[in-house]
Amino acid sequence: MYKSVIIGTGPAGLTAAIYLARANLNPLVIEGPEPGGQLTTTTEVENFPGFPEGIMGPELMANMRKQAERFGAQFRSGWINSVDLSKRPFTLSLEGGETLQAETLIISTGASAKYLGIPGEKDNVGRGVSTCATCDGFFFRGKKIIVVGGGDSAMEEANFLTRFASELTLVHRRDELRASKIMQDRARENPKISWSLNRTPLEVLSGENGVTGLKVRNNETGEEEIIEAQGVFVAIGHTPNTKFLGGQVETDEHGYIITKPGSSETNVPGVFACGDVQDNKYRQAITAAGSGCMAALDCEKFLEGAVTQDWSVSLG
Ligand SMILES: Cc1cc2nc3c(=O)[nH]c(=O)nc-3n(C[C@H](O)[C@H](O)[C@H](O)COP(=O)(O)OP(=O)(O)OC[C@H]3O[C@@H](n4cnc5c(N)ncnc54)[C@H](O)[C@@H]3O)c2cc1C
Repeated sequence: MYKSVIIGTGPAGLTAAIYLARANLNPLVIEGPEPGGQLTTTTEVENFPGFPEGIMGPELMANMRKQAERFGAQFRSGWINSVDLSKRPFTLSLEGGETLQAETLIISTGASAKYLGIPGEKDNVGRGVSTCATCDGFFFRGKKIIVVGGGDSAMEEANFLTRFASELTLVHRRDELRASKIMQDRARENPKISWSLNRTPLEVLSGENGVTGLKVRNNETGEEEIIEAQGVFVAIGHTPNTKFLGGQVETDEHGYIITKPGSSETNVPGVFACGDVQDNKYRQAITAAGSGCMAALDCEKFLEGAVTQDWSVSLG
């Protein structure tokens, strides 16, 4: 029986762990399939406050983990397959069959960017392939950029990236865009954006210094074409990692957990959510960390008020 279990070790989960551990609540932190979270897949992080020269993503995450361990947070590998939130204490089932019981739960399982699944794509993440314009746009000053996608976020990322790009090509596999008219109009009025519609991405091309272009098939003629670029931004959406919750926590239509405005509380008392798993908008390390702090403080308050419940007899 744990007073608090945190699921996920990205910036949200580790910040929650630092706060709960410093409040003497000895949280258990489950690492999941990606220990350290998304930032372990990137190189330099230049926008996390406190590091004027920037810091490598894996180093930043290793530091956060050390900080949580220093105050008594316990870590364990493995990931949560399913949960039973119908009564407290909550039951969490780990892959492999083991179960854990927790009085409170902090969900910080992030949202995974969708990839195209084409050759050369995953190998070049951090070498020219990106799923985050806010994070990586600055690295592409004066460079040619491709944005792949046809929704609102692709239009938004494309417009934003023209601040840095010498030229920007928007690639979409259909003739028509899914984006709202206002977002399309904004992109179409942008003189730096050219359009390669009705093109299916086939392969990200790269050389010694990273990405060199994108091979696409022209769906009308069937011919293959190469679009030269040093950056390929894949903007086809994210999948929040909430499947293991089996619908027991309220989510929006895309699967993002809904939290009470200005708080980390979910619709289930004692269950809190922080980071990208409940944030369809900002999806940054610093916002994830900030909401991790909120979740820990909300959880602490909940535990203070909850000790009179029946199940408190099993409190350590
Ligand atoms: C390539 C790349 C570069 C980026 N660069 C920047 C940048 O420069 N600056 C910036 O601010 N942001 C950047 N971001 C965004 C930033 O990484 C995210 O906003 C941030 O990591 C979100 O933190 P999080 O804690 O919510 O989730 P994540 O970092 O996604 O962590 C989720 C955690 O949950 C765990 N997990 C998932 N499912 C389960 C499960 N079922 N059971 C147990 N554990 C589970 C995973 O193992 C992982 O530890 C970048 C993202 C990417 C992909």
